[in-house]
Amino acid sequence: MKIDLSSLNFNELKEFVSENGLPAYRSEQIFRWIARGVSSFDEMTDISKSLRETLSEKSYLTVLQTEKKLVSSDGTVKYLFTLADGEHIETVVMNYEHGNSVCISSQVGCRMNCAFCASSLKGLKRNLTAGEMLAQVATVNREYSVSSVVVMGIGEPMDNYDNILVFLDNISNPKGLAMSLRHVSVSTCGVVPKINELAKKKLQLTLSVSLHAPDNETRNKIMPVNRKWNIETLIEACRNYTEETKRRISFEYTLIKDVNDSVNHAETLANLLRGMLAHVNLIPVNYVMERGFYPSSPENIRRFFDTLKSRGINVTVRRTLGSDINAACGQLRHKTESGGKNI
Ligand code: SAH
Repeated sequence: MKIDLSSLNFNELKEFVSENGLPAYRSEQIFRWIARGVSSFDEMTDISKSLRETLSEKSYLTVLQTEKKLVSSDGTVKYLFTLADGEHIETVVMNYEHGNSVCISSQVGCRMNCAFCASSLKGLKRNLTAGEMLAQVATVNREYSVSSVVVMGIGEPMDNYDNILVFLDNISNPKGLAMSLRHVSVSTCGVVPKINELAKKKLQLTLSVSLHAPDNETRNKIMPVNRKWNIETLIEACRNYTEETKRRISFEYTLIKDVNDSVNHAETLANLLRGMLAHVNLIPVNYVMERGFYPSSPENIRRFFDTLKSRGINVTVRRTLGSDINAACGQLRHKTESGGKNI
């Protein structure tokens, strides 16, 4: 069976190279080309033709086909990529003052089934390989220089934990993209055992936790994961995470009209996070037709924000980007696979 070179970490690539009787420096060359997002061995111009042929007999590279590329009026770019097996994923590039941030998918579909999200409408198809995650960054980086990465696209990264770790290792390797993990965020809906495992690694990345409700009653209604690991268990894991890593956690809170946006919810949230190394990101929910949730009014968003702020919580309201190109999680993939129209 051919080996997927894009999904090996650097040490595994070195082993592959030495098992094939090649000098060690070849592993550095190959690793660098993969980080540059090449789509074939033929683009590896410092490697002889005969060696490229040998490589393609024994191994392959992960290549993403650009099925669609949509550019929003606000500059947000969304790619719909087709994978080798015909599955689709989405990758989004957002421009901020500090540079381009790329939002990558971690799975094809999702099995977490959050009530407002389009990504799990058809369940989980499969995990992405580490190479497929790296290729999203590397492919985008060929067109737009990428300065930060958020693993917040389709899928639950902590449900694909082992591949995420290889991806993080490779993206930060100085021989490749050399991205500091301080510029990488990983978002989870609250898979507690994996948060605890990740804490032990003391990585410098930013952990985002999709909280979306401050009490079990509300959270159970919109996030089935809460029935497995409830708020108390999740917050305990988060406190442990900040103690182990000394890194602030970013809590995502999607404001949904009449579901989780009352003053009472805001007060409960402030009590829950009191004294914690935390930041709250408020996001008006993106309307997904099949889900039927509506965003809170600007007045209620303001009220929620003020309630948190006056109680000493670090809070920001996230700008909505790319709404004209279905940039909300999983919407474009879902439309494409359902034969729907885009924009
Ligand atoms: N599974 C991970 C990462 C992917 S989702 C997680 O849950 O964190 C990325 C973020 O988008 C999460 O905070 C998720 O709750 C949020 N999200 C999903 N659907 C949304 C929608 N329709 N509107 C606003 N945010 C949404």
